[in-house]
Amino acid sequence: MNGSVEAIKNEKKVLLLDYVDENLGKYKTLFTSNQDSIFTVDIEGNLVQGNPAFEMISGYSTEEAKQLKLQLLFPLDHVNKVFHHFHKAVLGQFENFDCKMTNKSGQLIDLNITNIPISVNDQIVGVCAVARDITELKRQKQELRKVEEMQRILTNNVLDLFICTNLQGEILYVSPSCEHILGYTAEEVLQQNCFSFLHLDDTEKAVINCKKVLGGMENRRGSYRIRTKGGDYIWAETLSKPIIDPDTRHVLEVVSVVRDISERLKVEEEQNKLEDTYRDLVEYSPDAVMIARDNEILFINDTGARLLGAIKKEDIFSKKINEIIHPDYHEIAKERIDIVTSGEVTNFFEYKLIRLDGTIFVAEVKEIPTFYQNEPARHIIMRDITERKKTEELLLNSEKLNVAGQLAAGIAHEVRNPLTAIKGFLQLMETQFAGKQDYFEIIQSEMDRIELILSELLVLSKPHELKFETVDLISLIESVKTLIDTQAILNGIQIETIHTCKNLIIKCDKNQLKQVFINILKNAIEAMPDGGLITIELKNYSFNKIKILVKDTGKGMPPHILTRIGEPFFTTKKDGTGLGIMISKQIIENHDGTIHFWSDKKGTMIEVILPMAKREALK
Ligand code: ADP
Ligand code: MG
Repeated sequence: MNGSVEAIKNEKKVLLLDYVDENLGKYKTLFTSNQDSIFTVDIEGNLVQGNPAFEMISGYSTEEAKQLKLQLLFPLDHVNKVFHHFHKAVLGQFENFDCKMTNKSGQLIDLNITNIPISVNDQIVGVCAVARDITELKRQKQELRKVEEMQRILTNNVLDLFICTNLQGEILYVSPSCEHILGYTAEEVLQQNCFSFLHLDDTEKAVINCKKVLGGMENRRGSYRIRTKGGDYIWAETLSKPIIDPDTRHVLEVVSVVRDISERLKVEEEQNKLEDTYRDLVEYSPDAVMIARDNEILFINDTGARLLGAIKKEDIFSKKINEIIHPDYHEIAKERIDIVTSGEVTNFFEYKLIRLDGTIFVAEVKEIPTFYQNEPARHIIMRDITERKKTEELLLNSEKLNVAGQLAAGIAHEVRNPLTAIKGFLQLMETQFAGKQDYFEIIQSEMDRIELILSELLVLSKPHELKFETVDLISLIESVKTLIDTQAILNGIQIETIHTCKNLIIKCDKNQLKQVFINILKNAIEAMPDGGLITIELKNYSFNKIKILVKDTGKGMPPHILTRIGEPFFTTKKDGTGLGIMISKQIIENHDGTIHFWSDKKGTMIEVILPMAKREALK
């Protein structure tokens, strides 16, 4: 039996070798120059022959190959598979399969093998295997799979939405993030038109953008409101890109990346609000604020523009920093700019600055390093200190006035004594110059006047110790009038007192109240350089008050001055102290009274209301 099997095998081998020889002769070129490896195996799995391509990949020469058994060509874990297919081929089936082969130097090669049964005289005598090296193909496939997997991970997991549409805007693909961003599942939006999800007001913009993508074949950005499944709208930023057919250069589809920017917009809005607040803070700051870089002025607030005398802010922007700093201060300004540039804040420093009209003023300036439009810059604070300087000067002056007052008191005292002596001698002489009586009367009355003025001076210059006493307001006003009359007459002014009732008794510090009316009357006189009329009207006001109205026919005060009078040291006069009204207000308030001012171009009216003394006080 064995003998006969052997015999059959041998017979088949002979047939195979004949077949190979015969065919090799016929198809030599096809066999030798074939890119694929071709090798022939007998039904027992012994290699019979291989072409040059087989020699190449296996590393075995044909002679060496003829000594090989099939299993030696394949790694252990592939041998079974190879034999399985080989047996099927021996049974007459054409087989195609992938497997790995081990070459002579031990390297693994991926092959795709097609087994072709060789049949001679109706019996299978061997198998011809055509093997293609698919190592590179497999590597490329693997690469491709990796890329695809990466893309899948990307599209599935990034928060942005990927969407692919056809030229009509119908959605062909949408990434799973659709559900997260819009609430719709991918299935719900597929085949729908992407424009139908846009806010009506944004559709036109989107269509225009889309046309540009299709027409210009370019990438375009846009931002639109997109409706979510819940019916709300989110703001989204999109980047659309055409997919172009490399052969026809026609756009096939449009791919867009959609990003939800609602949160970002909210943050930006908050930031803008904050910025607005800061801008307002700076814009309406009582300090003048300017932002500069090198010699350029980049920003100035209203106070700053006013300080520099600009009507329009633009007028300032055309100026250089150097042009608003007095040349004497250029050197120091340069040094201080260096300090700020190095990142430090400077202290307030007194500069002389120049307004747009060329006038010079003194300002305190501080500089802080900052950023403006993302670039380093200097934040400059300027304070006009002209007023403060003036106040300091006036304080000094009022100190001087105080001294002058004391001096006046001293002089008044000194003059009074010799006056008493003169008066005495005058009386003696009067008897001896009969017939010249009227001269003496004049001298006497003038002397009385001198005495009165002196005593007023004395009273006024005494230190303020409040001494309340009951006083008849009419006689108080009359005595003030006497005091002020000379000055009034010199200025061509007439003072008229009108009192419709008697016994206007108040409780007051006589000297202080006199001071109030002297201040009021002096102001009135000073407001009438060309003369005029002052009327002082006294009357009952309600049942327990007295009203005093002082009217002048002077030049009056415009509203912006009227609102400021009574501020300490506020004056419009060259030699004014700006203290008169302030002191007067204070005194009236100390007497539980009120003082009001009205003024127009025709003159000024001052109303003083004081409480009347209680009846007991009169006893
Ligand atoms: P001064 O008389 O030293 O200026 P005052 O406090 O007495 O200070 O007055 C302040 C300012 O009020 C004056 O400079 C003047 O401009 C204005 N004023 C006061 N009274 C009158 C008045 N009767 N008519 C016009 N202006 C007046
Ligand atoms: Mg005054």
